[in-house]
Amino acid sequence: MRHALRDLTIIGAGPTGLFALFYAGMRGATAQIVDALDQPGGQLAALYPEKLIFDVAGFPEVLAKDLVKSLQQQVARFGQPVHCGQVVTGLVAEDDHFVLRTATDEFPTRSIVIAAGIGAFSPRRLPQACAAPWYGRGIEDRVLDPARFAGRHVMIVGGGDSAFDWAHQLQGRAASVTLVHRTDRFRAHHATVEAVQADVAAGRTALFTFHEVHEIHAVDGRMHEVELRDVKAKAVTTRVRCDVVLPMLGFVSDLGALAEWGLVLEKDEIVVNSQMETGRAGIYAAGDIASYPGKLKLIATGFADAAVAVNQAFHFVYPEKKINPGHSSNLAVFGQKDD
Ligand SMILES: Cc1cc2nc3c(=O)[nH]c(=O)nc-3n(C[C@H](O)[C@H](O)[C@H](O)COP(=O)(O)OP(=O)(O)OC[C@H]3O[C@@H](n4cnc5c(N)ncnc54)[C@H](O)[C@@H]3O)c2cc1C
Repeated sequence: MRHALRDLTIIGAGPTGLFALFYAGMRGATAQIVDALDQPGGQLAALYPEKLIFDVAGFPEVLAKDLVKSLQQQVARFGQPVHCGQVVTGLVAEDDHFVLRTATDEFPTRSIVIAAGIGAFSPRRLPQACAAPWYGRGIEDRVLDPARFAGRHVMIVGGGDSAFDWAHQLQGRAASVTLVHRTDRFRAHHATVEAVQADVAAGRTALFTFHEVHEIHAVDGRMHEVELRDVKAKAVTTRVRCDVVLPMLGFVSDLGALAEWGLVLEKDEIVVNSQMETGRAGIYAAGDIASYPGKLKLIATGFADAAVAVNQAFHFVYPEKKINPGHSSNLAVFGQKDD
């Protein structure tokens, strides 16, 4: 699918990209985000949704997932699209604009802000060789629609927030829920761990600590049982009825094709100047991926980078417009004094 030409396309829907999208709307630019993940939020959504953050100005403390929600609300004011589940791989120059490419779509754009953080995230795969043939036939590494697991025997592998969240949420919907983790140390929110432990105590959920997937057994070509190995006793101990496995082992990140776009890179970061310019006209970088002297990789600096990058991109596309928009508290776009 080829999308309509926009003034600005932002690669990455982490906090930097989301704020950049808001800022572009405030400037009156047509803009969009493309992100590899199925949901906005970048590291906050993928790596630590249940952690409290204390150093975002104006929030004495905020859960990472709630900060993402607030950013989405701020972005919603201008109704600009966030295209999720698409990894940007290609960049070509076409006439007077660029075209960004993913596996399925093309995004023509007059300017680009790369807010790609530490690269595109993809779910970490089960390391056991027996798992590989089952991806797409019983092993699913993304839970998009929990209703699909109704009446199924579900095994979740992992000990973090996602594993515990889904173990709790699928309990009662799935025919059975089994949670498997290699240790007895959990990296999930305390309240969710307690909720799952209550399910386990009541016999509603099975929990195997110090276990890992050892073998997958099929009946008529369909997944039927998973054999678990006790990693302490190093013995194969248990077969569990299972027709779907959800590995929740975190994410791996990869700069991928962005590293091949001819931008100046230093340790997987894009070198920019104080205007967030990458050295290639019309392409800017912001947030964790942008490197300059004194850079701090923080949400707060990502927001500031985003404002600078978007203002520069806007001026690049519309040279007659000012770089500095003035204060939002005075802007007509918010119904304030005419600017
Ligand atoms: C455990 C943990 C705790 C933290 N706590 C704090 C804290 O308390 N305070 C603080 O200020 N910071 C904290 N940080 C750091 C903070 O999360 C980062 O600075 C912030 O997420 C950077 O935002 P970003 O938008 O630049 O990048 P990211 O959040 O990394 O988002 C980048 C997005 O770009 C997408 N992307 C990348 N490549 C592509 C591609 N090719 N195509 C499409 N999409 C792509 C990714 O999928 C991702 O969604 C913490 C980080 C971690 C890991």
